[in-house]
Amino acid sequence: MSKIIASAVFRASNRIVDETEQFLNKTIAEKGEDFAFEFPDTGYFLPHFYAMTGIAVKTLGEMRQIMTHARSHTHPEPAESIYKPYLGEALDAGMATLFAQEVLMALRYVYKLEPYYDKEMDFTYNGYITDTILRDLGFQLVDGSMPGFAAIIGAAESEERAVKIVMELQQRNVLTFLSGHNEKGDSVTKQLHRQGVQMGWETRLVPLGPETEHTVYALNWAMRSAMTFGGIKAGDYKKILKYNQNRVFAFALALGPLDDMKWATGAGAINQGFPAICDTEVPEIRPRGVCTYEHVVKELDQDKLIQTCIEVRGVKLTMEKPPIPVAFGPAFEGERIRREDTFLEAGGNKTPAFELIRTREMNEVENGKIEIVGLDDKVKETLEKGGAIPLGIVVDVAGRKMQQDFEPVIERKLHDYINAAQGVWHMGQRDIIWVRISNNAHKEGFKLDHIAVILQNMIMSKFPAIVDKAQVTLHVNEEKVKELAEEARKTYKERNERIANMTDESTDTFYSCLLCQSFAPNHLCVISPERLGLCGAVSWLDGKAAYEIDPTGGNQPVPKGKTLDETNGRWDGVDKYVWANSHNTLESFSAYSIMINPMTSCGCFECIVAVVPEANGFMIVDRGFTGMTPIGMKFSSIAGMVGGGTQTPGFLGIGKYFITSRKFLTADGGLPRVVWMPKSLKQFLGDKLYERAKEVGFPDLPDQIADETMATESEELVAHLTKVNHPALSMPSII
Ligand code: SF4
Ligand code: ZN
Repeated sequence: MSKIIASAVFRASNRIVDETEQFLNKTIAEKGEDFAFEFPDTGYFLPHFYAMTGIAVKTLGEMRQIMTHARSHTHPEPAESIYKPYLGEALDAGMATLFAQEVLMALRYVYKLEPYYDKEMDFTYNGYITDTILRDLGFQLVDGSMPGFAAIIGAAESEERAVKIVMELQQRNVLTFLSGHNEKGDSVTKQLHRQGVQMGWETRLVPLGPETEHTVYALNWAMRSAMTFGGIKAGDYKKILKYNQNRVFAFALALGPLDDMKWATGAGAINQGFPAICDTEVPEIRPRGVCTYEHVVKELDQDKLIQTCIEVRGVKLTMEKPPIPVAFGPAFEGERIRREDTFLEAGGNKTPAFELIRTREMNEVENGKIEIVGLDDKVKETLEKGGAIPLGIVVDVAGRKMQQDFEPVIERKLHDYINAAQGVWHMGQRDIIWVRISNNAHKEGFKLDHIAVILQNMIMSKFPAIVDKAQVTLHVNEEKVKELAEEARKTYKERNERIANMTDESTDTFYSCLLCQSFAPNHLCVISPERLGLCGAVSWLDGKAAYEIDPTGGNQPVPKGKTLDETNGRWDGVDKYVWANSHNTLESFSAYSIMINPMTSCGCFECIVAVVPEANGFMIVDRGFTGMTPIGMKFSSIAGMVGGGTQTPGFLGIGKYFITSRKFLTADGGLPRVVWMPKSLKQFLGDKLYERAKEVGFPDLPDQIADETMATESEELVAHLTKVNHPALSMPSII
């Protein structure tokens, strides 16, 4: 049986190695040996090859060695022969195939053939998956909102089937990559396109490219996650493959008959620990030895396909669907609803609208009660025919453990919950919300009160430990909405003040976040009122609420204990906790220093702070800025040095809001040390940055801080700082 597969794998691997080598020779002849190449926004060179061998390939000439490896199959033997008994040499050929495919894609980039543009569909595929996206998804991977990945290769039996398959995956929150085509040139991407399905990162359906070879983009992405989050060094291929097998819940779904290239790519994927599920008659490959799941499985019953995929790979599911007539899941959060597709809308400066969570006494809330209040004839007509209505969403909650402090934590979630319904869109928060219900959702039977149904159900199921009862009132009378919005504004203001007054000194308990340990085993965040988690998604209040909700979960109280060092922010309770929870690898954390025992990073930081010795200060670069920085590296390269749960003095991963915190690296001089940041980050921080600058006595600081339009290398930077008389230059030496 495996002989048939093995010969298919050999045929395809030989073919692609030959073809790619010819293409490489031609490219070198035209562009030269020294022609530099890197995939867009990455710090990992040609990632598959880099991960397996530790060799950083930077030019066309250097790509030759990848081809030599591929041809001679002399690359390291994969995965300690976990899989060898089944496919033997064919697995090596699978890895060789992926090496060649990666070079092929690089060459296609050189000729601007990637990301592939399909003229007929007028559609551009995603192409290479950037490091920024890899990191963006980090938090979703750990909080369970993205339990797994699928790579669909080929075309479904019909367009309807294609839609059904991806919908099932979306509803299970699985991120789906699409590539390849069938013998007629049709593909799931094209099928979905014809059916008008929205594709892209927002909907978790990402077409990589039209050929089977494009699957390598998904596979080298998985390789990078081991280095980015797992802190595993490039070249430590055994650990990298193990990481893929144990922590990346991915599988391939091969639709339609398998040709040689699909088998060869599949052999490479199996090598990485990813099983393939096929909907055709194929020889199955069952597990033996240390690996506990199947490698190749057939499922001929189309209705059971996705269930089988999920079971084979053991993807953990977290799905609750409120009783509404449309699909529901985070995959629909990014969906856009254009004006012409809108049936009903509220807010968005067209009508008054707001949303508010209120804590009430137990006897004041009737659990499950849903009400629309203020229905007059005009609103009734709009609800039937479409248009814009005023909308005040008031959610009353009660619970023995409910605290007013948790109101904003729950309120922030309303956005996600409403957005998760297919055909329903939500933007903003508080009194600047904007809600749309699409024509399609309306046709499916989605009505205004379903918004209340969603909120009531989701709050009860997501916050069971703090909310015992919840009722939702939708106000639609314009005068009443305005009046209630005014009251709501008072509440928002009080909350703002309460949070602003909360300092690290005002509490004796911080909270930990251990969520990222699922992929960065020794990393933990210690979160204080004035320093949020580095991913930007977890504040001290979030940590506190999460602990109340699930006392054995990923957020635990950390008693500060005795103060050891006020300046650097060290407490003996924190140090004890850090030691125990970093598995005895980290002795101490400083909350306010980048130089002495700085906090570690998992990889999902929003920004990186780095010391620029020549400028006697810090530069800050945020994820998403792809240009050069004054320390001579791009975000992607710096990020490679900071992740993986180790302390790197002089470098620090942080959440954006930490920059304007009163505790921002005070031990090292604080805000006046900041000498450079991208323009967009400055704009993002906006007034808050000016406010803080004024507070620390340097009101002009935001304009003195350089950005990429003023300096992209250190000499230029120092010249600029000298010209504007930046305070960092006259501060004590930073090193
Ligand atoms: Fe990961 Fe830290 Fe964010 Fe928690 S707070 S999810 S540990 S980055
Ligand atoms: Zn993280």
